[in-house]
Amino acid sequence: MITSTEYRKRLSKMKRNVYMNGNLIGRDDPKIEGAVNIIAKTYDMVDDPELKDYRDVLTAKSHLTGKTINRFCHIHQSVTDLLTKQKMTRITCHQVGGCIGRCMGIDSTNANSVSSWEADQKYGTEYNKRFLSWLKDFQENDGSACCAQTDVKGNRPQRPGEQLDPDLYVHRVETLSDGIVIRGAKVHNSYAPVVEWIPVIPTRRLLADEKDWAISCVVPADADGVKQIVSATAFNTHKALGAPGPYGGADSLTVFDNVFVPWEHVFLNGEHDIGSQLALLFALYHRHSYTGCKPAMTDVLMGAAALMAECNGIEGKSHVGDRLVEMICTSELCYGTGIAAAINGTRSGSGTFIPDIVFCNVSRRHAGLNIYHEYDVVADLAGGMPATLPREGDWDSEETKKYLEKYMMRNPKVPVEDQHRAFRWVQDITCSEHAGVSQYAGVHGGGSPRMEQIAILGSYNVEQVKNIAKRLSGIKTKGKYTFDRLGNIPDL
Ligand SMILES: Cc1cc2nc3c(=O)[nH]c(=O)nc-3n(C[C@H](O)[C@H](O)[C@H](O)COP(=O)(O)OP(=O)(O)OC[C@H]3O[C@@H](n4cnc5c(N)ncnc54)[C@H](O)[C@@H]3O)c2cc1C
Repeated sequence: MITSTEYRKRLSKMKRNVYMNGNLIGRDDPKIEGAVNIIAKTYDMVDDPELKDYRDVLTAKSHLTGKTINRFCHIHQSVTDLLTKQKMTRITCHQVGGCIGRCMGIDSTNANSVSSWEADQKYGTEYNKRFLSWLKDFQENDGSACCAQTDVKGNRPQRPGEQLDPDLYVHRVETLSDGIVIRGAKVHNSYAPVVEWIPVIPTRRLLADEKDWAISCVVPADADGVKQIVSATAFNTHKALGAPGPYGGADSLTVFDNVFVPWEHVFLNGEHDIGSQLALLFALYHRHSYTGCKPAMTDVLMGAAALMAECNGIEGKSHVGDRLVEMICTSELCYGTGIAAAINGTRSGSGTFIPDIVFCNVSRRHAGLNIYHEYDVVADLAGGMPATLPREGDWDSEETKKYLEKYMMRNPKVPVEDQHRAFRWVQDITCSEHAGVSQYAGVHGGGSPRMEQIAILGSYNVEQVKNIAKRLSGIKTKGKYTFDRLGNIPDL
């Protein structure tokens, strides 16, 4: 495993291909520092003395080499691995107050581990061997990856091949003796500018005549022809107030301008049915990650709500408790359903464990429906101050400081400096540009709400529940009684 120093050194050696606001920037540019700090944290956490009790959560034993690796590089070998990934996600998100950035990598590698194997069984290809060879190096190097799934998609109702411009979905444009050439653009690729690898996978189900779009591969994030047009936000740095960070995100519109991908990095090449499966599998793994990160985000917001109540001196009031219970119900229902998804996980032919579809999607959907409500709770208990808090400079200025310390004082049990710290941080996590991005991520990250509905309905056995109704209403054509959502109790 490497340290964050080594990670930063590797970023500094990458070719410049990141564009922001009209400028070509380096990966050490302060504008994306917040995102770099988050990935850096995933390296440092492993040896963080404060997290020593969680070392077994943060690391895993590679099924390829038997060596201890960062769990973000691991392929789930058991139900326990699925449970531990979920726990790791919740713990690590707490450390940075939001997205931990490396889950797109673990989710896409797990999905590829399954689909490359499935393709080999059906088509006699060698994708899984190639994938495992790449994965071995990735694990040995403690590599970092994102996931480029979402295509720019052009006119939504039209399929890839129906678009006026075929490049609106990333596709294969040439097959050479030593690899393929791909062209197109993916969008919303979180942390792409601050990782080393970009896994590229299909975004949707594909038809038999859409083979050119059924591509899975990994591309170095600075490969020739890759251009990243980036939007980045971060919490403001409050170093003077002792706050950690800055932590933030960076999302890329990633252009693949005739990018050559050698065979050893191609894990699907035209198998539309397996490409469809891969698209759904990544979404599934990612929604399972959300059963860890969304509860963590609720924990952060709930902590903020409770802290605001303390600063305002209203801690014991009944409406405060009521509102906190609303948040606890969201976080623990999502987390509990994620546990159910793991416990009901199944071993795929490749050996990789896959979480239950319905439990994952129900959890993700519940979280998404509640995201704006959680910000509403914080705003309710905080009052308006996070929106209009005087700037940090005014707390430093000789002329204004005395007024702020006098008039910002609320609960006498909380020193005014801590009240300032609390309101400043809550302003960051609820009122800032970065907060707005987090809210959208809470709705759309891992797929739009509509896609979750489709996944739930497509996997739920509605006939079974209709049968229950038929039996109870005396309808003669009732079927045999079965109900398959009672859950498996695995041997952990
Ligand atoms: C902060 C953030 C981070 C993200 N990170 C990543 C990442 O790291 N990697 C990645 O690959 N993706 C990422 N995503 C993308 C995310 O998965 C998508 O935003 C999501 O799938 C929705 O796609 P879209 O944004 O293109 O919206 P659209 O799909 O355009 O959705 C807009 C609306 O149109 C509807 N719609 C779309 N198509 C149709 C149709 N054919 N018929 C009827 N209705 C339709 C949708 O249901 C929705 O209501 C991220 C998104 C956000 C916001």
